[in-house]
Amino acid sequence: MKVVVDKDKCTGCGKCREMCPKGFKIWNIGPDKKAEASNLRFCHVCTICAGVCPTKAIQVIRDREEDEKEGTNEKNL
Ligand code: SF4
Ligand code: SF4
Repeated sequence: MKVVVDKDKCTGCGKCREMCPKGFKIWNIGPDKKAEASNLRFCHVCTICAGVCPTKAIQVIRDREEDEKEGTNEKNL
């Protein structure tokens, strides 16, 4: 899976880091005042970060295999 931040939209408000259950383990606000997600092995794929981001800068993208495991995706994609 991936957590992608649109740097053009990110204002560096820190809401993602504040609300993420793993907070500082995953989220870093860089010197450019843009949020970046790393250490994604800690991520629950709960999508809270995407939901709280005021500028909708975050996309939580699941891998095909993860979706297939839960049977939510067609196999022939
Ligand atoms: S999906 Fe959930 S655990 Fe993963 S970075 Fe976002 S808020 Fe944190
Ligand atoms: S909540 Fe959105 S705008 Fe705020 S720091 Fe995180 S990614 Fe950037």
